[in-house]
Amino acid sequence: MKRLILVFSLLLLSESLLCTYASLRNEGDIVFRNEDVFFRKIDNHTWVGSGNKMFNESLYLVEGNERAILIDAGTDIKNLDKIVSSITSKPVTLIATHVHSDHTGPSINCFSEIWINPNDTVLIPFVMGNYKGKVNYLKNGEILDLGGRKIEVVYNPGHTPGSTSFIDKKAGYGFSGDAFGSSLLLLTVDFSTFIDTCEKITAKMEAQGIKYLYPGHYNNNNEETIEKIREMQQLSKKVLSGEIESKPNTDNNFGLRLAVDGDGYRIIFNDSALK
Ligand SMILES: [Zn+2]
Repeated sequence: MKRLILVFSLLLLSESLLCTYASLRNEGDIVFRNEDVFFRKIDNHTWVGSGNKMFNESLYLVEGNERAILIDAGTDIKNLDKIVSSITSKPVTLIATHVHSDHTGPSINCFSEIWINPNDTVLIPFVMGNYKGKVNYLKNGEILDLGGRKIEVVYNPGHTPGSTSFIDKKAGYGFSGDAFGSSLLLLTVDFSTFIDTCEKITAKMEAQGIKYLYPGHYNNNNEETIEKIREMQQLSKKVLSGEIESKPNTDNNFGLRLAVDGDGYRIIFNDSALK
């Protein structure tokens, strides 16, 4: 029975994600669209791209006065370099929130260089093995100066060892990829590490007045807020202490055996996360 309920809820989840993609496409502020992706405006110098291969995988184009960064490349978007150059006239540097095929898929080949967190180097052979360009490394705390717009690099291990957020203090928001899951966190590192990540990012968000982080699979209402990340941290502590028991993650499990549910989100993980 439980299994049936889970199957049903996952069906509902995928259905709602498909509906979300359709409804996002109908929204205003679209500046580019083709069969692989559409980009729409967040503000005058920031755009979100939505791919359609893996649960609305999100790309963010962030422009300063002198240059722009593209945060993630999606799965397989042909001519991505030309697409972003049709939106911004500034030179664009590709930067990744983490090394997974829906964020650093074959589209990265449109760019001669990519910047990643060195802790995700272990994933390169599985995900970016065919990449011919140069791989550069981001430093924790480093500031990317785009000209009149500064973006801070913040390491957020949990989803992958090298998951990274990018914070725009002046704008009051950031971009976190899958670090906090976009409502479904695939935790591939241990809970203690993730709890520490939550502690550091919420402290930073509070100190810098960051209202939310745009996630890696954005559907207009699943921004990562301080409250949500704190709640994920509390749940993680309870799982680690045994106060909350995990259940088998039987469907859509991405190789992760266990699951716990929070208010509007799920964390899935393996036994090794409990060490
Ligand atoms: Zn991912």
